Amino acid sequence: MSPHVPHVLILGGTSEARELAAALAAHPGVRVTTSLAGRVTRPGALAGEVRVGGFGGAAGLADWLRDERVDALVDATHPFAETITANAARAAAEAGVTAVVLRRPGWRPGPEDRWHPVASLAEAADLLPRFGPRVFLTTGRLGLSAFAHLTDHRFVVRSVEPPEPPVPPHTEVLLARGPFTVADETELLRGNLIDVLVTKDSGGAATAAKLTAARRLGLPVVVVGRPPLPDGVTAVPDVAGVLERLGLGPAGP
Ligand code: NAP
Repeated sequence: MSPHVPHVLILGGTSEARELAAALAAHPGVRVTTSLAGRVTRPGALAGEVRVGGFGGAAGLADWLRDERVDALVDATHPFAETITANAARAAAEAGVTAVVLRRPGWRPGPEDRWHPVASLAEAADLLPRFGPRVFLTTGRLGLSAFAHLTDHRFVVRSVEPPEPPVPPHTEVLLARGPFTVADETELLRGNLIDVLVTKDSGGAATAAKLTAARRLGLPVVVVGRPPLPDGVTAVPDVAGVLERLGLGPAGP
């Protein structure tokens, strides 16, 4: 029988997951598989093996971990992907597999920022009548129903894939994927006469330019806070932290 090669399953859908797959694939003697939900039509190349689609809840994921002889599960999903993160914690415990959560740090406001923290998209919608009517909404393609009743507002919605209805009646959609530059974001805010930006606290560099642009233009930003991690779960902030938890150093000379 051939010796067992340590198998790491990454729950992906983020740039950190992609970086981690590359780092692990460079390790001789590690098998790495990235799992994608299948929401994005052209997800781009990934190092190692890739599987696509849901597992069928925590129980299905636990079965997959056992069937594929997974040794470590790294949840590198988006900070707002709450269901899969809860399922990952339960499945890893059930299958007796080492679990690591990789979460990029959240954004922090500076002294010149005019941020309004809220706990949900519904709270963000409640706050909008305080500001002018033109809104740049970058909270993703799901959950826009929270804003659908705001008939007096004009929304510019930016997302990677088309938003799911219902959306507010006055909505213009821009399909785009980061990274974005401060110059382009400033132009977008100015050109569309935006009064307020709404964002999730996704963190990371790829989509942070809008915050710099808003600061420079003195615009308010409504920031939707992250859902909490499951009880007892702590996260590492970067790929190096995952490698350390897995007892692996950086690969290469
Ligand atoms: P979610 O609400 O937490 O998960 C819903 C269901 O989708 C899960 O129960 C699971 O189905 C399936 N799923 C999610 N991530 C998966 C993965 N990596 N591999 C296999 N199945 C997965 O997730 P979401 O917020 O819809 O996000 C879906 C994916 O998009 C995630 O991979 C996330 O990293 C990425 N993403 C999310 C956001 C965001 O704002 N939420 C932004 C950028 C990227 P089963 O129960 O059937 O296993």
